[in-house]
Amino acid sequence: MLTNKKTKIVATLGPACSTREIIKDMIDAGVNVFRVNFSHADYEDVKEKINLIRGLNEEFGYTTAILGDLQGPKLRVGVMEEGVVVHDGDLITFTTAEDILGTAKKVFMKYQNFPNDVNPGERILLDDGKLIFEIVETDKKSEVIARVIQGGELKSKKGVNLPNTKISLPAMTEKDIADAIFAIGQNVDWIALSFVKTPRDLQDLQELIAEHSEYKIPIVAKIEMPEALENIDKIVAYCDALMVARGDLGVELPAHEVPLVQKELIRRAKTARIPVIVATQMMETMITSLTPTRAEVNDVANSVMDGADAVMLSGETATGNYPVQVIQKMTQIIEAVEDSPLIHVPQNTPQIKTKRFITKTICHHAATMANVIKAKAICTLTNSGYTAFQISAWRPNAHILVFTSNKRILTQLNLLWGVKSFMYSKDVSTDDTVTDINEIVKQKGFVQKGDFLINLAAMPIKDKGMVNTLRVSEIE
Ligand code: PGA
Ligand code: MN
Repeated sequence: MLTNKKTKIVATLGPACSTREIIKDMIDAGVNVFRVNFSHADYEDVKEKINLIRGLNEEFGYTTAILGDLQGPKLRVGVMEEGVVVHDGDLITFTTAEDILGTAKKVFMKYQNFPNDVNPGERILLDDGKLIFEIVETDKKSEVIARVIQGGELKSKKGVNLPNTKISLPAMTEKDIADAIFAIGQNVDWIALSFVKTPRDLQDLQELIAEHSEYKIPIVAKIEMPEALENIDKIVAYCDALMVARGDLGVELPAHEVPLVQKELIRRAKTARIPVIVATQMMETMITSLTPTRAEVNDVANSVMDGADAVMLSGETATGNYPVQVIQKMTQIIEAVEDSPLIHVPQNTPQIKTKRFITKTICHHAATMANVIKAKAICTLTNSGYTAFQISAWRPNAHILVFTSNKRILTQLNLLWGVKSFMYSKDVSTDDTVTDINEIVKQKGFVQKGDFLINLAAMPIKDKGMVNTLRVSEIE
């Protein structure tokens, strides 16, 4: 039996969740979206996992979504010897010349322009900032010498951040373009773009999607660069969801600035009525331990209270020891807080004369009315999924039940707070549809005799136009 929580969980796929049993247990424990992290993905393996998840959806009536996450211009070191440790004060060379096996003296850096982009005095942060280096000199061609400021274990393929350097890489590298085309071919439900800086980056991805897909695949803008924060208003206008990517964000900015940025980004997303995912190190200790720290429990709870639609796990499910237990724990935390009256998610009322004002207003009033009359469910019939975004943003107490004949929407909407979707392909009149849907909702146990329920529809129904009708029913 699936959980009834409203806040969604995004779990990253990886070697720790490779069997059908584990993936099924994770879905049953509360995973709504699986993330394919293209930083570490093998196409054959990804295909197999996606088929497996879709097979489970088919067999058990799940609506698990797939999010393809593009690496973006992420810099990484090459493969390292086992157990390399660097110490404060050591000098180390980063080379772009050849892909050597890294040691404590010399490390391969994958980005060819690296020696040219950096300058002495700038910092190199490795492994989410666990290791810090300062550049001593660069030959501007293939070698950079740096001094260790904060040492530690230097592991294979770890990410590199250059917070003081202007990097000349485009938002979508050749690898990202190939990965995006592959992801589109797999019909993923969402595509995330890392290190977004400007709306142009998102437009490039939109154009690539339009070229390779007959469907519009919605885009998650991962906010992890200071430039993205400067351009946030424009970015929000060009994407379909935000991710507070705290891993890289907390290295590109001082980590102590991230908590307020998280609140600010959630506020921006919610006033734009798009979903927002809070990501990284949420349950980090559960990679190796069955007990999360109190701080982690608080972090997940506080993210829900800030207004996150979804919380995300990375290493915890990709490589951790407890991929199922971490979901169970996260679900418990979510369920303990998400109905609290202390939660006030930022909202703004739809503006008259904006695009789709009628639909937006109906969704707003449906959510408000549902709380006033204590309706148990808001049911919406949709072809594009638009109304689900609009209703979800108002966080009604009622279940948000979406009925659609569009198979793609069915899984795509699973990222949205509180939304559950169902296949509905009958072509009947409005009266009959409402009666029919209300009966289905009753059979599924969401409502009982005497409960109120709100139906949203587009009349005339056969035109499949914009939602323009709100009806209140009492369940018989
Ligand atoms: P990543 O994104 O795991 O792909 O780096 C999330 C983050 O940076 O927090
Ligand atoms: Mn990142």
